[in-house]
Amino acid sequence: MYYKYYPIWKAFFEELDFEVVLSDKTNNKIMDEGSRYAIDEICIPLKLYYGHVLNLIRKEIDYLFVPRYISTTFGTYMCPKFLGLPDMVRGTLDNLPTIIELEIDLRKKPNFYSAYETGRQLNRPVSKIMKAFNKSIKIYKFFREIMERGFTFQQALALINKNPSEIPQKAEENNAEATIAIIGHGYNIHEPFINMDLLKKLKKMNVKVITLENLPIDIFKKRTIITNTLKNYWGNEEEILSAMNYLFEQKDIDGIIFICSFCCGPDSLIDEIITRDAKKINLPYICLVLDEHSGQAGVITRIEAFVDMIIRKKKTLKLEKIEKIKLKTPD
Ligand code: SF4
Repeated sequence: MYYKYYPIWKAFFEELDFEVVLSDKTNNKIMDEGSRYAIDEICIPLKLYYGHVLNLIRKEIDYLFVPRYISTTFGTYMCPKFLGLPDMVRGTLDNLPTIIELEIDLRKKPNFYSAYETGRQLNRPVSKIMKAFNKSIKIYKFFREIMERGFTFQQALALINKNPSEIPQKAEENNAEATIAIIGHGYNIHEPFINMDLLKKLKKMNVKVITLENLPIDIFKKRTIITNTLKNYWGNEEEILSAMNYLFEQKDIDGIIFICSFCCGPDSLIDEIITRDAKKINLPYICLVLDEHSGQAGVITRIEAFVDMIIRKKKTLKLEKIEKIKLKTPD
């Protein structure tokens, strides 16, 4: 959730006079340590989470922030691993500092109340908590607005403290041969360790990359309906399905890559639905299932083949169009 809500959390705790300390960038040591503590059959983001907690507690912090995300939109639930995160951390690791919990459950309480509970755990007065909450929401909205303009997560983080007038209305675009949307959970898309730096690799292949956060925020406000009787009840997957429905209608999208974690139940369900829908409209689509054992060479070969196929298809269509025009035009 760092890749989604970090600007909110940072602003909130700093406004409450705390210094925010982050774990190191993901590396092999974090991965190995996390895997040792997590159960074998759990997804890679959870294994990494344990590794990051171990990395953080060596930094002599006073508190450890472990949010409990239950529901972020009405009528949906987060995956059970998010629901039990503070309990799992407490039950698995020793010598932990005091844990600050933030329980987000929109079915039962507004976000302000969650912020209030967290602020009270830290003995801060209500007026200060309210100020911190309002500031953090304002910053988050601005952050999402920057990403909607086409900037990456890292670029948006760097731009957030700038004067709004200095931020370009659109991110710089390369002269790409194809536009591909990379969709999935933020921790799979923006974490280069998990996805083997896929975003950079695609840019090197002359591809314009679009992520879920670059799409208009309004498309995530409606509930998705799979069939007349079937709705989706998973929070993160709701976002992914909304993004896919939007992308399926865009003429300038040449293909979609869906990144899933091995062992992820919710993602494996929606992959089936997305595959069928993409096939119906003949849109190139690939689902990459990743875990800590995924071989870099295998993943890159698949992606290169996918991109080559898209570019070839585009060129063929262009040639066919030119031929048609030639046939229609009399000498
Ligand atoms: S949604 Fe999937 S990838 Fe994310 S924590 Fe749950 S099982 Fe893991």
